[in-house]
Amino acid sequence: MYVQAEFKSGVYLPDLDLWLDSTRKREFSLISHAHSDHTARHARPVLTPNTAKLLGDYLSKSNPVLLPYYEPYDTPAYTMTLYPAGHCLGSAQALIESKETGERVLYTGDIKSRPSPTNEPLEPVPCDTLVLEATYGRPEYVFPPQEQVLDTASRTLRMWLSRGERPVIQGWRLGKSQEILHHLLSDGFDVLVEESIYLGTQVYLEAGVEFPGQVKMFEGEWPDGWVLLFPPGKRREALKGFTRKRTLELTGWAVGEAPWGYYRADASLPFSDHPDFNELVDYVKAVSPKQVYTVNGFPELAGRLRELGYPAVHLNARGQKQDNGFQMKLV
Ligand SMILES: [Zn+2]
Repeated sequence: MYVQAEFKSGVYLPDLDLWLDSTRKREFSLISHAHSDHTARHARPVLTPNTAKLLGDYLSKSNPVLLPYYEPYDTPAYTMTLYPAGHCLGSAQALIESKETGERVLYTGDIKSRPSPTNEPLEPVPCDTLVLEATYGRPEYVFPPQEQVLDTASRTLRMWLSRGERPVIQGWRLGKSQEILHHLLSDGFDVLVEESIYLGTQVYLEAGVEFPGQVKMFEGEWPDGWVLLFPPGKRREALKGFTRKRTLELTGWAVGEAPWGYYRADASLPFSDHPDFNELVDYVKAVSPKQVYTVNGFPELAGRLRELGYPAVHLNARGQKQDNGFQMKLV
């Protein structure tokens, strides 16, 4: 009998009384990375030192356990060890080894398997039970090679600049923005970044990530020929006075219809900080689990995994098992 997992405002392992990425305040919980859909102000969060730096004052009332990659954290019931997840600076997978049974449970949090110049590279961790984030867990979500997407992005930006237009790239504040910034600078673009992206980038610089050019903050001036990197949703007010703007959006949803409908950018290209469907399947093969839980995303991934012989269950947000399939031994 393997460890059970539940999904309700985070992942809960009842056998070990352990919360992973709870979005409600807990006495003790892992925070796998600094994105807000994985965090809460826990009394005693466990996280990597870089994730703590990125969260800054957010945890000022907490008493965190700063756990570097590869260092075991011992409790009477289990040992937890963090491994790089490749998703953003400091992002971690957690390997939890039960002291009673020796079972190895791997919780991935968000991962990215494609190489990134700004993140610690993803490290596959063999396990018995895998709890996998399945954001793009539908077969239609397959991304083209990253170099091809970045090349198309550069050509689009140069075309807009040559016409005297002002390119805005939409990127989330943390993780994807720093990756895109790195790629733009190495392609020779002059780039201004919005303040929250700038502050996040400072943490990357402090952590030793090198950027191939100057990182400059947008302070209301936008010289001709410069590309602006801005978080979605924030730009309407701040950029009201500038005409001839063109928006480029880099998101995995660009290969299909986003679940919440279409975007309104002038161009959308599939570049993501998550794996596509095939990369999710490849990751499962790489860590060869005996049972799999998928969380977030779509149930189709668990279906494909069962076809491949892995007992796999998709957990929905209400903690109910869905789509169990014939091969799963139920509790
Ligand atoms: Zn994330």
